[in-house]
Amino acid sequence: MSDKSFNAFEMAQAQFDHIADLLGLDAATRALLRNPMREYALNIPVRMDDGSFQVFRGFRVQHNDARGPSKGGIRFHPLETIDTVRALSMWMTWKCAVVDIPLGGSKGGVICDPHNLSNREQEGICRGWVRQLARDIGPLRDIPAPDVMTNSQHMLWMLDEYEAIHGAKLPGIITGKPVGMGGSLGRTEATGFGVIYTLREALKELGINPDETVASVQGFGNVAQYAIRLYNKLGGKVICVSCWDQEDSASYTYRKSDGIDIDELLKITDRFGGIDKKKAAEIGYEMLPGDAWIEQDVDILIPAALENQISAKNVNKISQRVKIIAEGANGPTTPEADKVIAERNIFMLPDFLANAGGVTCSYFEQVQSNMNYFWKKDEVLDKLDIIMTSAFRGVSELARKKKLFMRDAAYVIAINRVAQACKDRGWV
Ligand code: GLU
Repeated sequence: MSDKSFNAFEMAQAQFDHIADLLGLDAATRALLRNPMREYALNIPVRMDDGSFQVFRGFRVQHNDARGPSKGGIRFHPLETIDTVRALSMWMTWKCAVVDIPLGGSKGGVICDPHNLSNREQEGICRGWVRQLARDIGPLRDIPAPDVMTNSQHMLWMLDEYEAIHGAKLPGIITGKPVGMGGSLGRTEATGFGVIYTLREALKELGINPDETVASVQGFGNVAQYAIRLYNKLGGKVICVSCWDQEDSASYTYRKSDGIDIDELLKITDRFGGIDKKKAAEIGYEMLPGDAWIEQDVDILIPAALENQISAKNVNKISQRVKIIAEGANGPTTPEADKVIAERNIFMLPDFLANAGGVTCSYFEQVQSNMNYFWKKDEVLDKLDIIMTSAFRGVSELARKKKLFMRDAAYVIAINRVAQACKDRGWV
């Protein structure tokens, strides 16, 4: 997001155009799918703790709802733009379609930095965002969820505002709610675990034992933390994580060659996934530049931070040993880097397949909310595993059969499903 020359929406459209050509999509279907259906840009005035007013800029983009109500998270980030939100909304459409859940795609964002905002100010942003959109989102229309720098508390404030406006209890308006307040057990773990379910299947397909593998991770937020946990459980070793340091406005890679200890690191991590540098050094972590994560001598790379992290600039730094890239983040790899990765025969677990565990569990949350009957955590995670594994198999089978790059195979499945739904509805 910090790279001014990078435009996530142009990248999402380029990926779409490539598959539209491959599928020979007609002009109307292309026109319908390469741009979002609806977009909202909002001013959110908030009274700050010092009594002054600050106006935050917010967005919601609904890319497509042919397969069901549109669904997608809301991000808080200082560098958010309408174009990143457009791209992310499009990727949500493909994500829900590739795992075959009955939802469309949308995304939201607010330009703000929660590091510098009190809880009360963040609550003001959440409530203001909902007030502006109260008629345009809804349990049967468009359902937000957590994403970068938003969490279950933000979701609860949003729910509360929405219910106050509509004068009813409407838990289906938002997912990622706290457990006990309509949230689902397993939702917090779901995205990170989902990444590892697909990674486990990829390793199986390549005939590699997880306990003989070593990984490098970019990011240390919710997705990365749970991915590391489950990967460790399968026997894999993570040798480094890279994350943002708020104090220095830079990122660093924290490395321990015999394997990082997730519990030890979590004790010195803030709620945004930032690691305390001094304490990390005290407990024996080497501190390398932020982008060092990509050049480590490992079998698996897990980019689980933001978009535009593996690009033409650094793709050639990827070690010859790397066999799999599992994209926990949305849009971490640019099309130029993809070409190199495909040529090198690295097995790609594309974002909208690999990180679909979050939205799949959001779907479970809605189902449970509607029944007002909540499942046990194991039940949620077993159901999640079944969906992720079957989506992986569908994509890898097509990739093998048609000799396609994994990202292209995932796109073919997703775009075909959405295009068919648009046709069946008589839209094109
Ligand atoms: N923000 C998550 C994603 O990018 C989850 C979205 C949701 O649960 O609706 O997939």
